[in-house]
Amino acid sequence: MDSTMENNIQMQDSHGRGHGYLRISITENCNLRCTYCMPAEGIALTPKAHLMTADEIITIAQTFVNLGVNKIRLTGGEPLVRKDAAAIIQRLGKLGVELTLTTNGILVHDFIDTFKEAGVTTLNVSIDSLQEEKFNQITRRNYFDKFWKNLELLDANGFQLKLNVVVIKGFNDNEIVDFIELTKERNIQIRFIEFMPFDGNQWNKDKLVSYAEILTQVNYNYSAEKVERMTDKPNDTAKNHKIASYKGSFSVISSVTNPFCSTCNRIRLTADGKLKNCLFSNTETSLLDTLRAGGDIEPLIYQNIKSKFAMRGGMDDDTKFQNPKLFSQNRSMIKIGG
Ligand code: SAM
Ligand code: SF4
Repeated sequence: MDSTMENNIQMQDSHGRGHGYLRISITENCNLRCTYCMPAEGIALTPKAHLMTADEIITIAQTFVNLGVNKIRLTGGEPLVRKDAAAIIQRLGKLGVELTLTTNGILVHDFIDTFKEAGVTTLNVSIDSLQEEKFNQITRRNYFDKFWKNLELLDANGFQLKLNVVVIKGFNDNEIVDFIELTKERNIQIRFIEFMPFDGNQWNKDKLVSYAEILTQVNYNYSAEKVERMTDKPNDTAKNHKIASYKGSFSVISSVTNPFCSTCNRIRLTADGKLKNCLFSNTETSLLDTLRAGGDIEPLIYQNIKSKFAMRGGMDDDTKFQNPKLFSQNRSMIKIGG
């Protein structure tokens, strides 16, 4: 049975969407402080006793796999800052799913063997500027050289890489072509992400660079016959393109201006064991509380998925989506896990 069929029959919501892709945040901590992800004053961290232990992560993940999940992504915070990250990755690697991570890359040099042993072959790595000063400004830390060294290391070890770039007007929108040029000689995918609103990230519409604006820049810099629109995979959040003869590709994740909710197959587990059926949902179901009380989490999972809104946690038009009263009821991104 292929994964699409499996998704269609497993864990359906009331809009007919199957859910085969679980994203697990394993920590709220991070070694960077990206301005679009977390507030300047930091976040109040959940006490450790309320966070999932490694055993609890594996138990919950196994339950999801039994219900049809066939892909798991680890995220955070920065997943690799968690002290037992390697053990968690190794154990999840035995569940027989496609296992991957989203990471800022700063610690990957310590995990190359772990990734290989766990069967991780692709990684999403985040970078928002190719210029050192701007990289340091957006991350509020000075790890530019470390980042590049580690990216080369991943590349040299044969990992398939996707680079996540949050595009912010007046900050890095003048680097779109520079990022695309990275795909000339390297078989990597650049993923331009529209800047999304979350609690405390100073989002406003003027900072948004839309899918249409990104394509305008692309079309200005490359002739029409060189820009190829690729076929997107089922459930793909990215609209994929490439420049003819370049080794890699680029895509746009347009959650703000062109949401892809109708094919969404994703569910999210936060580091404190809460199930979120949408990145933008402001309701959550605690699986951890029930697990610790010795209860059955399966009915909770089904209920949570059934209650999923058709679009962006119920913020189904621009007015609702851009209303700070609504989006600030959600967590900040660092506490959701991207
Ligand atoms: N620390 C890891 C990293 O940075 O890759 C994983 C967690 S991070 C929250 C996951 C992804 O969410 C990153 O690619 C980050 O750029 C993206 N992200 C964070 N805040 C965002 C926002 N407001 N809008 C769009 N993407 C955002
Ligand atoms: Fe940390 Fe990733 Fe958020 Fe940056 S985007 S602060 S690296 S969790």
